[in-house]
Amino acid sequence: TTTTLPSADAYVPVVVIFTSADRNWTLVHKLIRCLRSMFAFATAPVNLIFISDRKSFDVAESVIKRNVTSDKARVRISFLDLEDALLITAKDIQPLQERFRSNDSSYSHNVFLLSIVMHKLLPFHHQVLYVDVDIAFQADFSLLFKHFERFSPDQLIGLAYEQQPVYRHALESFRTTHPNTTVGEPPNKGHPGFNTGVILFDLDKMRSNKKFSSVLAKASILNLTAKYELQGNLSNQDTFSLLGFEYPQWFYVLPCEWNRQLCAWWKNNGFAHEFKSYHVCNKTPKIYHANCNTKLPLL
Ligand code: UDP
Ligand code: MN
Repeated sequence: TTTTLPSADAYVPVVVIFTSADRNWTLVHKLIRCLRSMFAFATAPVNLIFISDRKSFDVAESVIKRNVTSDKARVRISFLDLEDALLITAKDIQPLQERFRSNDSSYSHNVFLLSIVMHKLLPFHHQVLYVDVDIAFQADFSLLFKHFERFSPDQLIGLAYEQQPVYRHALESFRTTHPNTTVGEPPNKGHPGFNTGVILFDLDKMRSNKKFSSVLAKASILNLTAKYELQGNLSNQDTFSLLGFEYPQWFYVLPCEWNRQLCAWWKNNGFAHEFKSYHVCNKTPKIYHANCNTKLPLL
């Protein structure tokens, strides 16, 4: 063959968590939509890294070839077996699991906790982009990757703010006893918490930051849930938000247009008045995030 493929380093790593997808056609459809939009704008070849169970990975691989692209110059597909990932990180996420053993189907739960230890899962990668599958790109993902260059030396992880008053609600009791706090405030006044649909991980910096490692090792995240009196399940998003409240220096705040969230549930559930100050994003979206099963606009 005469095709010359780009060198392995040229493929930009993009991590996707894709589990329980066999027979879940809604999820498969989201994946196709996400990747088609990615390739519609992409100017660089992509190394898609799936954290999946075997069956879901097989589904992903076949729909990509059939419905997205089979061009090896544009995409390489890698598989990180969910079972292995959970083994590698068992020690790190076990203390966090304790907290919901009683109230959650902990399996799906553990999957999401994986992302706080992404630096241990991908020991040979330096920087990766993580995306949910319920998103649609409206711009070249390489432009998003370029935001790594804007990280200050202390910044390890890039996330956009949560665009609903989720943490205003979840931190209600803390906010009552700490009337001057800015946690849970809208972006113009404080820290609304993070949304985890789009994440830039500087894995090298995560690995070399001793304080970050010790916070994970000592399960300090559990102390943070107590400190901030966080209500409800400790989700992936709660974890990053708590870390963001306590250690803002580790986080680069991605501009809102790179994770334009469409969920408006809280608008109709007690926060009609406050909603707008959280939801506002005046830039043209570069990624739409159809979170809480919302519909994407017709693009
Ligand atoms: N996900 C998955 N299998 C599932 C549910 C979720 O692989 O059964 C992954 C998928 O990548 C999804 C992400 O987990 O985008 C987060 O879930 P979702 O986007 O539905 O949460 P939301 O953004 O609405 O909070
Ligand atoms: Mn999502």
